[in-house]
Amino acid sequence: MRKFFLLLLKFFGWGFLTILLTVLSQTGGIILLLFLVIRYFLPKTQSRPLRVIRSWALFFLLYGGINFLLVPKIAERGGKVPLPVFSEHLQPHRLGFVLLNRHYVTPRMREVMLETAEAVARKFPGTVTYYLDGSHPLGEPRLYPHLKHKSGRKLDVCFHYQDKNSGEKQRNPALFGYGYFAPPLPGERDLPAECAAAGRWIYGLTGKLVWENTGKNTEIDPERTAYFLRNLTEKKAVRRLFIEPHLKDRFGFSGNKKVRFHGCWAVRHDDHVHLEVN
Ligand SMILES: [Zn+2]
Repeated sequence: MRKFFLLLLKFFGWGFLTILLTVLSQTGGIILLLFLVIRYFLPKTQSRPLRVIRSWALFFLLYGGINFLLVPKIAERGGKVPLPVFSEHLQPHRLGFVLLNRHYVTPRMREVMLETAEAVARKFPGTVTYYLDGSHPLGEPRLYPHLKHKSGRKLDVCFHYQDKNSGEKQRNPALFGYGYFAPPLPGERDLPAECAAAGRWIYGLTGKLVWENTGKNTEIDPERTAYFLRNLTEKKAVRRLFIEPHLKDRFGFSGNKKVRFHGCWAVRHDDHVHLEVN
């Protein structure tokens, strides 16, 4: 009986992991299943440490090999390319975005981002532009938890930050890249309050991803961020940007039709910009 329950537990455990990896990375679940099949046929060994090391090595070999050698080639045929990982001016906010295959975009989006990141770095030397979620590599599956990131024509990008006191360049302090809000100042339109009053609880949800003390001395660098956004809006290939109305006004984009508000049904956009290209 005990053996049966252990087997059942294993079955549900692997099943849960497969679903989780599929949701997060698109290919991770199928790679895990492939790993389990190969492992089953490997010659048995009595040494447990050896078995563990062998299993991890096999999984990482499969995960890395498939995701970084095979998947980019297939993705390219479907019209998607990975964003750079270690380039000088454009990098992922965390390596996790890359490891989970969330950094695929259309070639046009990559071009727009490379050009803009370079332009900002030219004007403000030492600036690195950090990207967040793009889309998955194969086909147009939903990129959870987003509603829109499917085609590779949409990308979330961090604002640029600075130390409140010294003005020194800073990284976005949010662990996962989302949730470090730049709330409205007195006198600015307060959409977060309006959306909360309308009962839209999803609107402020990403705020739960950051701890109370996160980034106490970090604020948006208005000059660099406005320059970065201006550069984007001036590009023909850029269709629109989503940021909160108070930031739109603060950064001098009032009346600019490319800079929009997404409505209370999405999450807040005063912690990142959502960019869309044609
Ligand atoms: Zn987005």
